[in-house]
Amino acid sequence: MRDEYDVIVVGAGPGGSTAARTAAEECDVLLIEKRQEIGDPVRCAEGARRAPLLEVLGLSEINEKWISSEINGARINAPDGTFVDITAEMLRLEDPFYYVLERKIFDRDLAKNAARAGAHIMVRTRATGLILEDGAVKGVKMNRLGDDFEVRSKVVIGADGVESQVGRWGGIDTTLKVKDIGSCAQYHMENVDILEKTVDIYLGERYSPSGYAWVFPKGERAANIGLGIQGSKLNAKRPIDYLNEFVADKFPHGQPVELVVGGVPVSDALKTIVGDGLMLVGDAAHHTEPMTGGGMPQAISAGKTAGEIARKAVRQNDASVKVLGEYETEWHNSPFGKQRTRMYKAKEFFFERSDEELSRMVRAVQGVRPEEMTMRGVAMHVLKNDPRLMLMIRHLL
Ligand code: FAD
Repeated sequence: MRDEYDVIVVGAGPGGSTAARTAAEECDVLLIEKRQEIGDPVRCAEGARRAPLLEVLGLSEINEKWISSEINGARINAPDGTFVDITAEMLRLEDPFYYVLERKIFDRDLAKNAARAGAHIMVRTRATGLILEDGAVKGVKMNRLGDDFEVRSKVVIGADGVESQVGRWGGIDTTLKVKDIGSCAQYHMENVDILEKTVDIYLGERYSPSGYAWVFPKGERAANIGLGIQGSKLNAKRPIDYLNEFVADKFPHGQPVELVVGGVPVSDALKTIVGDGLMLVGDAAHHTEPMTGGGMPQAISAGKTAGEIARKAVRQNDASVKVLGEYETEWHNSPFGKQRTRMYKAKEFFFERSDEELSRMVRAVQGVRPEEMTMRGVAMHVLKNDPRLMLMIRHLL
């Protein structure tokens, strides 16, 4: 085993594997993953909008193997039982405009791409600390099957997900406020009556205080059924307790074949995501979109940019913040980075609404026609249906 690489990436999720593949096009790269199987268990509802996903992957067509379900509609269910259907046609998007993926295959393929680009991969290998010299990161302390050892590198990319420790070890404050953690539980369920091409979203206190419940189709009569709750709303009742109530009410004949629990960062942007010799990507850098909790495309996009800047740092033999800071600037100026604060404000607004207010909002957009599906068109529709509601939401427009 080598004791030095140009770049070490910690965590083989979508962010880490993409960073490793990109950096490996020019550099010696080591990608380490603490689990024994990359991509398993899946801690994700596996949903992604088609266009941004293809764009961050740099593909014109999706690999069929990655797709579990093709989606052409969304149903938003209000607490009072009213709902609104949004279709691909209304959004003027391609049909399908959304996929539910097979992340076990998808994540594994991203790691395979890193390997094919030349990255060296080690599974069952956990980062336990960083090698720090004069405040700069110079490598990673690791444990593999009980053996402790150290590997040096010019650059370390922390892609170790929501429970990231790499950032903290490197002196970056990645603390999340409790209200900025989405606490989730999800079953993969079989034998469920679902709308097979529609993602179904349920709002309201009953099932997901300051969050939402989802039903993401996974083929015929199967779905990822889960919910996320704002951390500060948790008490003795756990997300799994809410989920059990939800499935008992909505899918009494459903049978779980898999349970996942996990957190999602739903915070405003983390300003500092680099240090000397260190970059953070994906959930480790709180890149998740705060309104929905989706973070796959964001992690892939950040991984690609981080990999490119790592190459530059190695080429210039300078891994200081001066060079790695370009990644931070590029991220904050990227489409994902730019919309971040607006989406955080939208999350803060929507997740503080009462059940009555959420129901009013869904009622106000009922009957919106495809030709009204612009920001202005929807605003005019709401104004006509419920002028006082417009006053409440005007600062979001
Ligand atoms: P991860 O995918 O979390 O990968 C991090 C990797 O690092 C893991 O493999 C982990 O084992 C490894 N690791 C951690 N610590 C160490 C260590 N010390 N040493 C070595 N390896 C380590 N996003 C969407 O886009 N769509 C969705 O529908 C969606 N649904 C979700 C539902 C749930 C219930 C949850 C919890 C999340 C959901 N997300 C969703 C978020 C999405 O899963 C993440 O944003 C995405 O996986 C982030 O990718 P990543 O590469 O940053 O981190």
